Amino acid sequence: MDYYAAPVAKLIEEFSRLPGVGNKTAQRLAFHILDAPPEQAENLARSIVFARRNIKHCSVCCNMTDSDPCRICGNDRRDRSVICVMENPRDVVAMEKTREYKGLYHVLHGAISPMEDIGPEDIRIKELLLRLQDEEVKEVILATNPTIEGEATAMYISKLLKPLGVKTTRIAHGIPVGGDLEYADEVTLVKAMEGRREI
Ligand SMILES: [Zn+2]
Repeated sequence: MDYYAAPVAKLIEEFSRLPGVGNKTAQRLAFHILDAPPEQAENLARSIVFARRNIKHCSVCCNMTDSDPCRICGNDRRDRSVICVMENPRDVVAMEKTREYKGLYHVLHGAISPMEDIGPEDIRIKELLLRLQDEEVKEVILATNPTIEGEATAMYISKLLKPLGVKTTRIAHGIPVGGDLEYADEVTLVKAMEGRREI
């Protein structure tokens, strides 16, 4: 890193922490920013700080939001009898884009993964169980990713829900195994929801 002035080296280092950004890309991004008009660089920096400060987790569904409850939980037109459980906020965006699902969500912020040392207590399962005590929920749709971790998480939650007597369903395998819901196209996602089965 001695080739670079210290502020440049720092910028490259920070960019290289981002997912999917290797050293070369980090270097390109850093030089792009330094070549750009100052106000463009300042806007980027301000947007990052503003988003980070203003986005929190909804106290109901744990989704990312700038208002609490979030716009979905606070919307009277949503069907409060269904909760779709998803791994991350990006999955919720993918589902919302289908415009088919009218129920509520619950965002786990991850999936159970013994390999990565992520246990049930590390994701938002407890919050889901609390919701089921208060709200009149008739169905919980387990829409975690069709990966080993996503399946294990769905199985784990379904066992917890059994004694509660709430109908629990798992989305169909329209999504390729090992795939991420957020990358599924809208038709596939709608089909996976329609084909869900009780577990
Ligand atoms: Zn919410």
